[in-house]
Amino acid sequence: MVSRTTDDYLAMVTAGCQAVCEPAFWAGFDRCSVDGFHDYFCQLTEHEPRRAAKFGLPHYCWLCINPKESEDLKLASEVMDLIPQFMDKPNVLGIGEIGLNKNSANELKVLERHIEIAAQHDQLILVHTPHLEDKYKGTRLILDALKNDPRIQPSRCVIDHVEEHTISMVLDEGFWAGMTLYPESKCSSSRAIDMLERFGTDRIWMNSACDWGISRPLAVPHAAIEMKQRAHTHPWIDKVVYQNPVAFMQQSPRFRLP
Ligand SMILES: [Zn+2]
Repeated sequence: MVSRTTDDYLAMVTAGCQAVCEPAFWAGFDRCSVDGFHDYFCQLTEHEPRRAAKFGLPHYCWLCINPKESEDLKLASEVMDLIPQFMDKPNVLGIGEIGLNKNSANELKVLERHIEIAAQHDQLILVHTPHLEDKYKGTRLILDALKNDPRIQPSRCVIDHVEEHTISMVLDEGFWAGMTLYPESKCSSSRAIDMLERFGTDRIWMNSACDWGISRPLAVPHAAIEMKQRAHTHPWIDKVVYQNPVAFMQQSPRFRLP
């Protein structure tokens, strides 16, 4: 939302959106200093919630340095040192979106340190899996890193960008699966609904890609229309687009709906 206009907030409220949950994300360019992240975390925890509140929307966020920016280990370490001082802000749900982008050794080190921070502070975890051909390998590496820490409960982690070949391992091992919907690439609403029909609706949610690139804040309500066109029932649709994300996020005592 930090890169969207107030028109988007208005459209989301009009479509029935009840709350916004925004991960710490790549800005579309690499930030070059820890100060840039400090200001970004202030934006996510102080300024953006005030902007959303003008539209009656509670705003929640996740904190981390994105995998795309974790190649510079010195910068990543300075940014991760900052996170605990923002951890007690009332809208912080957890650590994310952490994960891997190119499955590099440095990315894995930064992922492990983020997992450590989440475990120490008993936080929920939101994970990004690679979009490249190494999605399967990256997802496997991430699940193993999470399972390696006995303090981490899979039911408190959502693994985003699942595809047909990774969704089973995520669900079978007790994690939540996420499907971020994009208008012209990656996961479309039709493909997401196909996966729901095939793999069921337990421990799975959808969210709208909503950032500085070509993306659609109303992707989830649009997917709900497509589910209706496919003759899915109201309870089936409601579970996927509303009850499931609420059930996951309510594991944080901070998450409250109006
Ligand atoms: Zn992502």
